[in-house]
Amino acid sequence: MRIDGPKFIGNALCLDFVNTLTWRGTRWPHDYLRSYGDLVDWSRRGGLLDEAEAGELHKRAAKDRRRGDVVLGAARELREAIHGLTASVARGKGHASGDMAVLNRVLAKAPRRRGLAKGEAGFVWKLSERPRTLDVMLFPIAESAGETLIAAESARLKSCASPECGWVFLDTTRGNRRRWCDMADCGNRVKARRHYLKAHALPEKRR
Ligand SMILES: [Zn+2]
Repeated sequence: MRIDGPKFIGNALCLDFVNTLTWRGTRWPHDYLRSYGDLVDWSRRGGLLDEAEAGELHKRAAKDRRRGDVVLGAARELREAIHGLTASVARGKGHASGDMAVLNRVLAKAPRRRGLAKGEAGFVWKLSERPRTLDVMLFPIAESAGETLIAAESARLKSCASPECGWVFLDTTRGNRRRWCDMADCGNRVKARRHYLKAHALPEKRR
């Protein structure tokens, strides 16, 4: 079964980035970022790169696979830090200082020249120069995390009601009653997981 790229349902770029890892609450998480190329494609969807920039990064990474792998590792580390910080707010608990340190390290290196662009989920900051380094997309993601943590009301930052899903989102509904990441999408992923469990003959946890 082919699993399509993750939807942009977080109402903040950094939350959509966190949601590139799904089923966090299970022993079988699924990572949509399996290669540096996946990271480039997701960044293109998010508006952080235009087509020419994405093409250039794909080409450059093909020539320097090791560097691409290093950036993918840094992206995953940043993703877990943002997840730790936003989930701690969503749960009303204190955050881990290590997560803050990871985010601050990326923010400290962020180049200043930037402009606006539009991606699948709306407007985002992006670097206004052509990408020079393979990690160019990490900076707007880190800035989105900073802005979200500063601006979001804690009651609006939520985790999906399915404990296995683990997706996070900003609830922008008037009544602040949103509970699910996306009914259809969560349902599809539960279906994919059942298929996986069946294929691997593992007993499904009863709920
Ligand atoms: Zn969900």
